[in-house]
Amino acid sequence: MKKILFAASEAVPFIKTGGLADVVGSLPGYFDKDAYDVRVILPKYACMEEKWKDKLKLIAKFYVKLGWRQQYVGLYETEYKGIHYYFVDNEFYFAGPSPYGPIHEDVEKFAYFSKAVVESLQKLDFVPDIVHCHDWQAALIPVYMETLYGNIEFYQHIKTVFSIHNILFQGRWRLNSVQDATGLPEYLFTTKYLEAYGESNYMKGAIVFADAVTTVSKSYAMEIMTQEGGAGLDGVLRKYSYKLFGIMNGLDYDVFHPGKDTYISYHYDKENAVQQKAKQKAALQKKLGLPVDEDVFLLGMISRMSDQKGFDLVACVLEELLQRENLQMVVLGSGEERYQNMFRYFSYHNPQRLSATIGYSEELAHKIYAACDGFLMPSLTEPCGLCQLISLRYGTVPIVRETGGLRDTVTPYNKYLDTGTGFSFANYNAHEMKDAVLLAMDMFYHQKEEWEKLMARGMEADFSWKSSVAEYRELYRMLSES
Ligand code: ADP
Repeated sequence: MKKILFAASEAVPFIKTGGLADVVGSLPGYFDKDAYDVRVILPKYACMEEKWKDKLKLIAKFYVKLGWRQQYVGLYETEYKGIHYYFVDNEFYFAGPSPYGPIHEDVEKFAYFSKAVVESLQKLDFVPDIVHCHDWQAALIPVYMETLYGNIEFYQHIKTVFSIHNILFQGRWRLNSVQDATGLPEYLFTTKYLEAYGESNYMKGAIVFADAVTTVSKSYAMEIMTQEGGAGLDGVLRKYSYKLFGIMNGLDYDVFHPGKDTYISYHYDKENAVQQKAKQKAALQKKLGLPVDEDVFLLGMISRMSDQKGFDLVACVLEELLQRENLQMVVLGSGEERYQNMFRYFSYHNPQRLSATIGYSEELAHKIYAACDGFLMPSLTEPCGLCQLISLRYGTVPIVRETGGLRDTVTPYNKYLDTGTGFSFANYNAHEMKDAVLLAMDMFYHQKEEWEKLMARGMEADFSWKSSVAEYRELYRMLSES
């Protein structure tokens, strides 16, 4: 039995701010239970819903040394859908209305989390063969294990994997503050290890010290080794490219299932998608106060509102798009104030064309995926992207920029070969994006048969975890044998 422990800052259903939670909360369930025991360790945030907190059982208490500080660790556990979850409790660090706060607080918070996880390994009745750390919040785990704990025999048998879900978030802060917060020795705060561009950089530390580094699509693995896509870490990634692997994220096909989705009223499969989606569309239009019209092209966006997600392109052409009588848009998301205000403004002035919900709603998200005809994702960079996978699963045609995981998962329509699952554009240019939307609309209105074939091909594509899990298994096997 191979034992793997995932360490991360979020996982569905306990706490979610983005795609990381979907991945950490679903991937463990896709390993063969006879051969793999995959468990997860998370922070026990005060902002977690009470119904989850009530299920947790205290299993250990101890203190961890963090520089000059002695900090309390409560270890809790629970099981969800056959997966064992551990939680690290400390009310000082994990209080607050959301998992993440200002970066200067987060660097200490997640240094604490990482050190608490490393110490927990000796307290649990589960000694993993591999600790699989996700994103910068868990990035100090390999650093601690290879340095401060490197001489302890117990740790020498445990391998580490570090997964980059988004290279833009690296955990960067002042060198001396981080040295103080982490208690790591001074020699580590040099260019060879944690220092990058005059700051301390958690992600760089993990790239240096982990036994393997993965990222969430093959294209993104190539992109982050370039100056353009590496956000300053391309050099170190090139240096360690021998241990870098691109493994595509999968989607939890049980949660995102148009035939069973509890958030939607009209279930469907490939055979009746057109009729059922039309009913779903009418229901959504009614709910959101848009004119009810099953025949109009409904374009969806669900996203963090940031430049990374292409909202500056949307800002450029939104007014032009909204002048089209044959287009309705529904937007759900939150993020940068200027984009939130932009959508508030345009939806106020175009109530017939645009509905914008600023906030977070799992239920509305599912309804949008099911109801829309097209889904817009014009990201500047996209490590993997889940929204386009969900769209494909729900027969909603993705319109994407060709970058990272979007390039790997959406095949652009080719009218000569009659292939493709969506529409795409190459350059980060607002009018290229608009043209892709117009092309999609043109097909929707004038080539119904082609459009329906496009939908069907998307629904047939398989982006479940099946093949990605096989790649992780292979990686774990390689590490265990090395
Ligand atoms: P990110 O870079 O934000 O992780 P992904 O595409 O990988 O982007 O994953 C985003 C996930 O979060 C998807 O499951 C998407 O449906 C969901 N999501 C994003 N914003 C919202 C929102 N405002 N309400 C509900 N779900 C959201």
